Amino acid sequence: MNNRDDAAFWACPHGQDARRGCVACYEDAAAQEPEVPMWDVAVWFTSRRPIPIKALKDVHRHGSRFLLDKLSAPYIYLLTGHARADQGVQAVAGLVGFLVHNRHVVDEFSVQETRAVRISPSPDTPVTDRVWP
Ligand SMILES: [Zn+2]
Repeated sequence: MNNRDDAAFWACPHGQDARRGCVACYEDAAAQEPEVPMWDVAVWFTSRRPIPIKALKDVHRHGSRFLLDKLSAPYIYLLTGHARADQGVQAVAGLVGFLVHNRHVVDEFSVQETRAVRISPSPDTPVTDRVWP
């Protein structure tokens, strides 16, 4: 049931591990048609080095769809944002891809936890089936 360590489970359409991010998915998300599902994505990650406050604020300026927050625990950050994608794994790969694409913000990171919830079109499945993974 819980196969979250399975490489195939985490693979985006470009064959990248969603937890390491995919720049192609990130770029795809911005170019998707409005009928492609919208996902609310959250990614918790640790950074090898502390991210300066200024860089945290810059994230919002770079992509108004994204917010980067520092959590109270040291070196743990939360990136949230909306992404259009056919699948939750693609939405996660795209959000992490934003980090890869912005190496000046965070150079070395490790994704700890992800969540993707489809917010549009309105899902007709039970809530538990909408949370990914
Ligand atoms: Zn991809």
